[in-house]
Amino acid sequence: MKKWVYTFDEVSDAEALVGDWDSVRGLLGGKGANLADMTRLDVPVPPGFTITTEACNAYTDAGLTVPEGMWDQVRAALDTVEEKTGKKFGDPSNPLLVSCRSGAKFSMPGMMDTVLDIGLNHEVAASLAEISGDPHFAYDSYRRLIQMFGSVVLDNPDEPYEKILEEFRAETGVATDAELPTDALKDIVERFLAITPRFPADANEQLKLAVEAVFRSWSGKRATDYRNAAKIAHDLGTAVNVQTMVFGNLGEDCLTGVAMSRHGATGENHIEGDYLFNAQGEDVVAGIRATIPVGEMANDMPDAFTELLAISDQLEDHYRDMQDMEFTVENSKLWLLQTRDGKRTAQAAVRIAVDLVEEGKISKEEAVMRVTPDQIDFFLHPQFSVQSRKDAKAAGNLLAEGLNVSPGAAVGMVAFDADTAVEWAEAGKKVMLVRPETKPDDVHGMLAAEGIVTSRGGRTSHAALVARQFGKPAVVGIAELEIDLKARTMSVEDRVIAEGEFISIEGTSGEVFLGQLPTVTPDIKDRWLSTLLGWADEFRRLGVYANADYPADAERALEYGAEGIGLCRTEHMFFEAERLPTVQKMILAENPEDRQKALDVLLPMQREDFRGLFEAMSGKAVIIRLIDPPLHEFLPAHDDLEHELHDLEEDKSVSHDVEIKEVERVLGRVDDLHEENPMLGFRGVRLGILMPEIPRMQARAIIEAACDAKENGFDPKPEIMIPLSIHVKELERVKAVVVEVADEVMKARGIKVDYQVGTMVETPRAALTAGPLAREAEFFSFGTNDLTQTTFAISRDDAEKSFLIRYVEEGILPVNPFQTIDRLGVGGLIKLAVEGGRTQRPGMEIGICGEHGGDPDSIALCHEFGLDYVSCSPFRVPVARLAAAHAAINQK
Ligand code: PEP
Ligand code: MG
Repeated sequence: MKKWVYTFDEVSDAEALVGDWDSVRGLLGGKGANLADMTRLDVPVPPGFTITTEACNAYTDAGLTVPEGMWDQVRAALDTVEEKTGKKFGDPSNPLLVSCRSGAKFSMPGMMDTVLDIGLNHEVAASLAEISGDPHFAYDSYRRLIQMFGSVVLDNPDEPYEKILEEFRAETGVATDAELPTDALKDIVERFLAITPRFPADANEQLKLAVEAVFRSWSGKRATDYRNAAKIAHDLGTAVNVQTMVFGNLGEDCLTGVAMSRHGATGENHIEGDYLFNAQGEDVVAGIRATIPVGEMANDMPDAFTELLAISDQLEDHYRDMQDMEFTVENSKLWLLQTRDGKRTAQAAVRIAVDLVEEGKISKEEAVMRVTPDQIDFFLHPQFSVQSRKDAKAAGNLLAEGLNVSPGAAVGMVAFDADTAVEWAEAGKKVMLVRPETKPDDVHGMLAAEGIVTSRGGRTSHAALVARQFGKPAVVGIAELEIDLKARTMSVEDRVIAEGEFISIEGTSGEVFLGQLPTVTPDIKDRWLSTLLGWADEFRRLGVYANADYPADAERALEYGAEGIGLCRTEHMFFEAERLPTVQKMILAENPEDRQKALDVLLPMQREDFRGLFEAMSGKAVIIRLIDPPLHEFLPAHDDLEHELHDLEEDKSVSHDVEIKEVERVLGRVDDLHEENPMLGFRGVRLGILMPEIPRMQARAIIEAACDAKENGFDPKPEIMIPLSIHVKELERVKAVVVEVADEVMKARGIKVDYQVGTMVETPRAALTAGPLAREAEFFSFGTNDLTQTTFAISRDDAEKSFLIRYVEEGILPVNPFQTIDRLGVGGLIKLAVEGGRTQRPGMEIGICGEHGGDPDSIALCHEFGLDYVSCSPFRVPVARLAAAHAAINQK
C-alpha cells in the first residue's frame, strides 16, 4: 500500500523512500518538510502530519476521488497525534482541534486554502469553554470555523458572514470582532449555522471535507494564475498539513506573530516581524489590527522572545538562509507553526547572500547562485532623485507616508481595482493599483501595475509579500488615506485624487507624491552588490563588454564593471545635430572630391570621440564598427522635402529659386537612395566598398586618435569592425584600405598602434563561410539582431508588432528570438561560425554584441558555445556579470 501520510516525526522514512531533501520537499511540500525537519531539531512544533502531494495529484487525476487507503492512514496518524497530545479528536471531554493547511513545494502565500479550529461542534465548544475557562475563546473559535468552512470548503460567499458580524458589532457597540461579547458569539454561531446548512457536526467529516478542499484549491484560478506568474509547474500538487491547534487567542499571556530572521526589505541582520496579543495567525497577516513590532516582545514576553531568537538562529544555521517563521505563544509557551526561506527584496537578497558568506555559513559560489540576474537588474531600477523628492515636498506634493515595504520608484495612474489596472496596463498605460488592502484575488492587478498602494496592512501583509516577490514598489498601511471605492476617489484630509490621476510612490522610503516625479538610475556602488559581483567575476569565464558610443557611456560602463567596448556604433556620431549637415553634404556630394571635403570636416570630430573612448578604456579592447545604416537614413524624409518644396513654390513674396533647386537636388538623391528593403540593401560593408573614402576617413580617425591617446600616456587597443559582411572578398577590399591608412598614419606620426581588423557575423552566409572570412578577419562579433532577422527572414522592426508576439503566446516559438537567442537556428549558425573561424584562425577572439548580449539565457548559450565575451548596454553589464558566473557554475 502506498504511503500517503507522514507524521512530523517520520521525515527520515520519507528521506529513505524518496532520497534527497529536494524530493522530500516535493513529496511533503515545503511547509510539511520543514515542520518535520523542525520536529527532528527539537524545535517546539505542535504535533501533526502531512498528506503528500502525490495524494493530491492522485485525487486530481482520479476526478476528485481520494486514493484508496488514504483515510485509514489519516486515522492512524491522528491516533499518533492524540497519543502525543493526550487529547482526542471529536471527543468533548478532552478535545483535540486541528488546522488543515496547504503546503506546496514552492511557497505560494495566501493562494490556497486553510481551515483552522477543525473539530468544534456544539458539545465540543461547550466543553472547551469549560476546560479552558474561557467561553469567549471557545465560541470565537467556533464562529471562525463555521465561517472559514463555509467560505473555503463549501464555497459560500463571504459577505453574508461579514454582514452578520457587522450587525452584531453595531448592536453591541464594539469596533472589532475580537471584542464581541460571548453571548453575541453564541448567537453568531447560530446565525452562521443557519446560512451554512451543510456544515458537518462530525469532526472526522469536517477534516475530510477540509482536506479535499485544500486539494482542490491547488487547481483553483488564484493558485493557477500565481503559478503562471511565478513560473511554478502546475503538476507538482500541494501537500496538506494537519496540525494540532495552539492558540494565540486564549488570553493576555497569548500572542501570535510572524518573524523573519533578517530584514526582508534591507537584508539587515536582525529579527523583523510583527505580533498581536490575543489573536489568531490570520489576524496578523490580514493587517486588520495594528500589529506590534517583534522587538517589543523583549519587554512584553522576555522568556518567549529569548527562545524565539535562539530558534531563529538555530533554523537559520540549519537551513543556511534567512527564515520566515510563524509562531504562537499559548499561555506563555512558544510554538513554531512553520518556517521557510524568507521572501526578500533584491537589495536584501544581495546583502543576505554576502553576509552569509562573511559569517562563514555559505560559500561564495552559493551566494552568487542565490541572487538572480533579475534581482541585479532590479537593484539598478530607477529611483526618484533626492532633488526631485525635495522639490516635490517643497511644492507641497508629498501626499502621505506609509510603510516602505518594497523598494523602488514607480509612477502611475490611480486604479482602484485589479481589473481596471489590468485593462489600463494592456492599453499601454502606467497604472498604480490603490486598494484598502489586497487579497489573493487582486494579484493579476498587482502584476499589471507599476506599483501598489494600500491604506491598511503591515510589513507582512499580502500586498507587501506579493510586491516584494515580484519586485513591484509598494507603500502600504497609510492610515490617513481614505479610499472611497464607490466615488472612485482617494483622499488625504481635503486633498482628493480621482481614479486616473497620476501619483508617484517611493517604495524605499514609503512616500506617496502627487503627480509624476522624474526618475534616475541609482548608484551601483553598494558595498554588498560590489562584493557579490566581485565574486561573480571570479567564477565567470566570459568577458563582459559594453556597447557604448561616447566617452561618457564608456565611463559608466567601466563603473558597472565592463572590461572593454564590444560595439561602438560610429554612425550614432553622424546623427548629432551639428554634424548632420556635413554628413548630408558628404552623402549628397556629386563626386569623390566633394565627398572628401565633407569627410575632412567630419574627421576631427570622430577622432575626438575615439580618443575619449580609448582614454576612458585604456588597456581595454575598444571595438569600433565602421558605418552601418543605409545612407537615406541621414537625409530628410521624402514627404518632408515635398512639403518644403510646396511651401517654397507657394511663397511668392521673394524668389526662392536657389533654395528650390537645392531641395530638388536633395529630393532627387533621396529618391536615388530609396530602397524597398533598406535593411537588406545598401548598408554595412557595402557602403564601404562603393564609397571607400568613408572607411578611409574612419580608419584615419581611429588610428590618429589612438596615436593621440598614446601620446597622452594611455594604452589604446583599437579593433576595427566591418559590419554585415557576406563574402571574404568584401573584407579583403575594406581591410586593404584600413591597413593602407593605418600604415600611413603610423609612419607619419612615428607611433606604432596595435590594432586588429575583424568583422561582424550578421548573415547566414557569413556564418556558413566563417572559415574563409577568418582568413581576413582577425576577430568575429555576432550581431545577433541582424543575424536573427536574416536567419528567420523576419523584420527586426516590424515582426513583434505584427505576428511574433502571437507566435510566442501560442507556443509556436518558445521565446521571442529577438530577446533570447534561438538555440537551434541562430544558435546553430553561431556554433558553426565559431568552429569555422577558429579552425582557420586558432584562438581568434569571438564575442557577441547584439541585444542578446545582456540576456541571461543567451549569455548561458554564449558560454556553452565558447565565446570570449558578451557585450551589452552599460546598464546590463552587472546583470551580464552575474549571468556569466551562473553559466560557468551551472556548467560545472
Ligand atoms: C546586430 O545586428 O546585432 C548589431 C549589434 O548591430 P545593429 O543592431 O547596429 O544592426
Ligand atoms: Mg547589425
